[in-house]
Amino acid sequence: MNDARKRDRCQRCGSWFRDGELRTRLYVAEDPSGEQGLSGVFHDECALPVWNFAVPDTAAIPLQ
Ligand SMILES: [Zn+2]
Repeated sequence: MNDARKRDRCQRCGSWFRDGELRTRLYVAEDPSGEQGLSGVFHDECALPVWNFAVPDTAAIPLQ
């Protein structure tokens, strides 16, 4: 349960996602596991700076 909720944190700002909040999932080849905070789920706004070096994981998908 707790592990699943950890994934609902924005990779950039660390805030929890609220219900209905738009999210973007990005994949960065240099950080496949997300340990460097590059790959993962972001707020749409937080994802913008990462887009420069990220490959969209099946494009920007609102996860809701
Ligand atoms: Zn964020």
